[in-house]
Amino acid sequence: MTIALFVLGVIGLFFGPIGWVVSFVCFSLFVVSLFTKGVIGTGKLIMSTKCPYCRTKISRSASICPQCGSTIEKEKVAGT
Ligand SMILES: [Zn+2]
Repeated sequence: MTIALFVLGVIGLFFGPIGWVVSFVCFSLFVVSLFTKGVIGTGKLIMSTKCPYCRTKISRSASICPQCGSTIEKEKVAGT
């Protein structure tokens, strides 16, 4: 999908003013989709952690590993 937008943008450059508008829109969507993917990817990375027992990627808020059933100790917050 992202690459298709980029290709469409390049093709649009060869079709005069109307094509330039189309390619501008395509490139804009291309950049936005790249940015969105990056943000979502980073968010997932922050929101997930690894089970210390079986190394499965689990949610940071999980208290029990869905893979091996081990109890996950919550990270101790300083000051409490
Ligand atoms: Zn586990």
